[in-house]
Amino acid sequence: MELKIKYPFLDLKAANERYMSDLCVAATGVINSGRYIGGPEVDELNCQLAAMCQAPHAIGVSNGLDALRLIFEAYKVLGRISEGDEVIVPANTFIATVLSLTHTGLKPVLVDPDEMTMNLSAESIAKAISPRVKAIVLVHLFGRVCWDEKIARIIRDNDLIAVEDAAQAIGARSITDGLYSSRQAGAICHAGAFSFYPTKNIGALGDAGAVVTHDSELAAAVSALANYGGDRRYHNLYVGFNCRLDPIQAAMLRVKLRDTDEANARRFARAVAYNRHILHPAIIKPLIPSSPTQCVWHQYVVRIKAELRDDFREYMFANGVETDIHYPTPPHQQPCYEHLPHGPLPISEQLASESVSLPIGDPISEIDAREIAEIINKFNGQ
Ligand SMILES: *Cc1c(COP(=O)(O)O)cnc(C)c1O
Repeated sequence: MELKIKYPFLDLKAANERYMSDLCVAATGVINSGRYIGGPEVDELNCQLAAMCQAPHAIGVSNGLDALRLIFEAYKVLGRISEGDEVIVPANTFIATVLSLTHTGLKPVLVDPDEMTMNLSAESIAKAISPRVKAIVLVHLFGRVCWDEKIARIIRDNDLIAVEDAAQAIGARSITDGLYSSRQAGAICHAGAFSFYPTKNIGALGDAGAVVTHDSELAAAVSALANYGGDRRYHNLYVGFNCRLDPIQAAMLRVKLRDTDEANARRFARAVAYNRHILHPAIIKPLIPSSPTQCVWHQYVVRIKAELRDDFREYMFANGVETDIHYPTPPHQQPCYEHLPHGPLPISEQLASESVSLPIGDPISEIDAREIAEIINKFNGQ
């Protein structure tokens, strides 16, 4: 007999149900327009994103990995970073962050995160600084903004290029005052990359991504590099790529981006419900930040001792709750990075062996989150 899963980890069709009629109208508009590359849908999306991020430049591109890669390629063609330069990156990030560096000939310096926030901390960054380090990628992992006064000071004092991997943090906001005022994730530092992969907080109906920046030279280089390296038609400044955003995905995103704050608020409410109702002593819950927009809960990740994890996930599944792991293997333990130099990374390895992600996306309700928490509380493991 097939087991009926009451709470799938993420049902994308169900999650998109609330947008369905607008998505159909928008898709039909693109089909009827005859513009299938670039054009007004992409231009409008870029304007909408720039306005949302309060940044002067937003460039829709093919996906999140390409957004990161284009940023580093652009710094290279502008002569601000060189092949072989070192770049600090959290060791527990999704592999795409690291791929963007090795693809552009930069050397990742893998740094263990803070165990509780799962993001880089000023202390961990400070230990990794050296004259060879020219840049840092701040990953807002699971939607939590990685930014504070101390990190800002390290970046400024060491004159680092600071790039945000905001793939999981659309709509999040920093709370730092002083050196930098509160800013939208992706527009806090010099340049930010977004992914609109369908499972992200705001997902397209296929691959999509964007670069956001305050730097007009960088924006021009990214736009050119994404379109064969041409600054105008049949004039190629750089050895570029084809990393353009499809207008049909731009149209889908224009519908969904309007709901960003509400969609993130729904995630926040579920995270709060989980934190309130999960009471099992074997489960370590994530921190709820003091300001709700500081984390947009791309994932709600709890931890359980490695020896109990498989039993816990099987128990949850048997009780109708599908869970996932973000991420079971850190980049430095992947076969492709067998020869990547790195120091000991005990926290990243521990997080990989203990993490479990609970359903957090639409259409899970706060009541569902409470029910899932009650199932967790009846788990028979210590
Ligand atoms: C999803 C993701 C990416 C890559 O985005 P794609 O659109 O899948 O290429 C990069 N970094 C992080 C942290 C991500 O979660």
